[in-house]
Amino acid sequence: MITSAAFADKRYAVLGLARSGAAAAESLLASGAHITAWDRQDVARDPFEGRCTLADPLGIDLTGYDGVVVSPGVPLNTHPIKPHAAKYGVPVIGDIELFAKARADLPAHVVAGITGTNGKSTTVALLHHLLVEAGLPALLGGNIGEPILAQTPLQPNAKGAGIYVLELSSYQIDLTRSLACEVAALTNITPDHLDRYDGFEDYAFAKGRLFAMQGSDQFAVFGSTAGPAGAIMQAELARRPQGRVVAADLDRFAAMQSEWPGLQGPHNLENVAVAVAVAQQLGVTERDWRAALASFRNLPHRMEMVCEDAGVTFINDSKATNPASTAPAIAAFPPQESIRAGARRVHWIVGGLAKEDGLGECADHLSNVAAAYTVGEAGPMFADLLTDQIPKVERCELVSEAVNRARSAAQPGDVVLFSPACASFDQFRDYEKRGEHFRQLVSMMADSDDDTSNGENAA
Ligand code: ADP
Repeated sequence: MITSAAFADKRYAVLGLARSGAAAAESLLASGAHITAWDRQDVARDPFEGRCTLADPLGIDLTGYDGVVVSPGVPLNTHPIKPHAAKYGVPVIGDIELFAKARADLPAHVVAGITGTNGKSTTVALLHHLLVEAGLPALLGGNIGEPILAQTPLQPNAKGAGIYVLELSSYQIDLTRSLACEVAALTNITPDHLDRYDGFEDYAFAKGRLFAMQGSDQFAVFGSTAGPAGAIMQAELARRPQGRVVAADLDRFAAMQSEWPGLQGPHNLENVAVAVAVAQQLGVTERDWRAALASFRNLPHRMEMVCEDAGVTFINDSKATNPASTAPAIAAFPPQESIRAGARRVHWIVGGLAKEDGLGECADHLSNVAAAYTVGEAGPMFADLLTDQIPKVERCELVSEAVNRARSAAQPGDVVLFSPACASFDQFRDYEKRGEHFRQLVSMMADSDDDTSNGENAA
């Protein structure tokens, strides 16, 4: 666990005792802070019974508190905790801010923080892999894996200082005030999470704060410079010495991509360019990163190859929760003359809870799509948008029906791509459950094919 003398005898309220909140409460208690903790579920409160004050911070006088720690899931734009804390002049923060405050007590280390609308998890997982393969002490935290405060502090080794690789969502950045990353990076910014912000500009501003918190001698890497990402980069170029702000060089990597089985698709060029630029800044040599790129296996639910059945490839890209993240998935499968001249190959299962009204960047790659199978609440919207734009649209509602129909229609060489371009919450708990459901449907189907071909099910 990460603890700090900075918290001794300080007073914090912790609202929400799920994973990161519970880890924050434990770290504060172990550091000698006085805390008032709360979660509306008693199972979450139980472990803290008798160890701190249990009360809802919304109902108490916060005079003298040093901060209210909330989970990034709390919508700051609508939740009453923000005005309540403001009344007492108390900052609303998250576990990443506590980590930032605890840094002074950690053994020699640096922090690499990565944000962006899409590609964060892939990029941090890849960066972590590049560092570990190069023999550097590194761990992953933030929006991925174990809560950062629950992790064992890194110790330097003969190769260098510990490297904390943090995936940072805009919600986490909103709750952070003093994290100065030695290297900060942005993959891209496209419209997302607009329910939590006063528009796209406000969302982009939240991402930009990761760079604004850095010192002018620290290092910043930009994957895409399109739209607001370019504006953030310009602002950072203006305030730092030459060489501290770089745009990742995608072209440099294009010719090597065929050597990396875990990093296919145009979007992964951006992720690779960012991860390598950060890794090089942290001391990884070209010889080391070249070897490590080839051995990287991507995280589940991101362009994950589930199986190949009768020549048809099934891909689970359930993590694609907005059109900008689905677009590169569709783009990755153009018609191939070697398979069937000019034929479109993608059988696209799309829909869920829409985050925006249109097809976004997916509209640019529809020439790869043979058929769309629309599901979920946004199914009818996608069906209307796609009819007349691609050869076939089938309205399915359920993912199971979509998988069945796609499988019947797909020819050898085709791809059944589950890349919903939508959030999952209309039909699933989260994108992971949704992806597991797809995987299960596909495996059941492949098994039943095997049974049939073995004659076991034959009447
Ligand atoms: P995040 O953690 O930012 O949500 P992930 O790495 O988990 O990003 O990928 C989320 C989705 O976005 C996946 O569907 C993936 O295929 C797609 N994706 C990954 N990297 C990029 C990128 N650089 N640009 C656009 N889409 C991407």
